[in-house]
Formats: sequence, structure tokens, C-alpha cells
Amino acid sequence: MEKRQELYAGKAKSVFRTDDPDKMVLVFRDDTSAFDGKRIEQLSRKGMVNNKFNAFIMTKLQEAGIPTHFEKCLSDTESLVKSLDMMPIECVVRNVAAGSLCRRLGVTEGQELSPPTFELFLKNDALGDPMINESHVESFGWAKADHLAKAKELTYKVNTVLKELFANGGMILVDYKLEFGLFHGEVVLGDEFSPDGCRLWDSKTREKLDKDRFRQGLGNVIESYEEIGRRIGIDFSA
Ligand code: 5GP
Repeated sequence: MEKRQELYAGKAKSVFRTDDPDKMVLVFRDDTSAFDGKRIEQLSRKGMVNNKFNAFIMTKLQEAGIPTHFEKCLSDTESLVKSLDMMPIECVVRNVAAGSLCRRLGVTEGQELSPPTFELFLKNDALGDPMINESHVESFGWAKADHLAKAKELTYKVNTVLKELFANGGMILVDYKLEFGLFHGEVVLGDEFSPDGCRLWDSKTREKLDKDRFRQGLGNVIESYEEIGRRIGIDFSA
């Protein structure tokens, strides 16, 4: 496998073509962004931590029968993945109220959501990733109804697997965002799963351990990502 030209650079990752049209290389950078890219900082070790974190989680999800694009780690900051035809939407499940849900509905942070909510957002930085619904997805052709239904089913399945994984490490999985794409017609989990795209609180103290530390200026961002990883058995030195 040969890494070729850069396809695009996102806010925290870059994507490269390979000599195999079905495979791409994800490069996890140290860049950390918030507020739709309005604030960007470099956090040392972040690329390595998120690459290894994502590899660990994607492997767990695959073992649980959830198809993912992850193939293997190529280096500390690079992973080989399947090349997906991405749906331009974000699937968010919430177990506990936080973030934009509290701002939108005026509910108290920390309120348990039973059953968990499922929300859709359009991937569009210029518009601030607006919330959309299932009929928008179909009417605008962002995904076919059956593909969206599969993505929703898989998003909930991820919740079952990861809520337990993080609970065993003394953490509450508050919410998370997933992105899906098609690989030869099959709906497959793409992008990444890392503390950048989920909320995790300590079960006892409710301390925020995820990217909200960066968004809210709480400090020790990467130390906290590493602590999450250690609690679920990730060896960042390997
Ligand atoms: P909220 O809608 O409360 O801002 O975010 C809900 C969940 O999805 C949080 O865990 C948040 O980290 C994640 N999320 C939402 N939008 C994005 C995004 O554009 N990028 C990343 N990395 N995560 C996001």
C-alpha cells in the first residue's frame, strides 16, 4: 500500500488516497478546533492519542458486529481505512442532556434521557451544522431512507456497546456523534470515535473528561483523553 496525494484536510484529520481505490489513509493531527472551526489550537500528542483511541474503539465495535471502515494502524498518527462514500450527516445519540440540547430546549445539563434521543445534523460548517430531520435527509437526497434507517440502527447499537465499555471504566457516556458512509452498497461507520466527538463524565464526580475541557477552557485536555483511554485499557505507549 502506497500513500498518495492528499484528498482533503479536515479540522483535525487529513485524508490521503492510496494506490488502492478502496483504501485511504487518515492522518490524525494535533489540531484541536471548537465552535465550527472558529478556535483552533495545537495540543501536543493529540494526533497519536486520538489515532490509538479510535483504533481501539473501532476494533471493539467491529467485534460487536458493527461494520466500520477501520483496517489497521499504520503509525502512531496514521490509520488505513476503507474509502467510503460519506453521507453528509451527523448522527447523535444522547443518554444525558448536555451541550446544544440544553441550549436549544432550555433543559438542565445532566438530566437523564430515557430512552436516549437520536438527532441528525447536516455537516456544513458555514451553516453551523444545523439540526435536520429524517425527511430532510430523504427529500434533499443526502441519504436513501433505508441507508438512514441502517445508520440509525447502528448508532443505537454503538450506544449499547460503548455505554457498557465506558461504565466499566467508571464513566458515563453522555452523548456522541457518528458519521456513516457506503462501501460497495453497505452502510459502514466512518470518520472517528474519540473524546473529540463524544462526552464522557466521571461516574462519581461527574467531572468532564472529553473535548468540553477544551471548549470550556478547563485545561489538561490531552491528559484527560489519556486518562479515559487508560480506564478502558488502551496502552498509548504500544
Ligand atoms: P452538541 O450537539 O451537544 O454540540 O454535540 C453532541 C455530541 O456530538 C457531542 O459529543 C459532540 O462532541 C459531538 N459533535 C457534534 N458535532 C460535532 C462536530 O462537528 N465534530 C465533532 N468532533 N463532534 C461533534
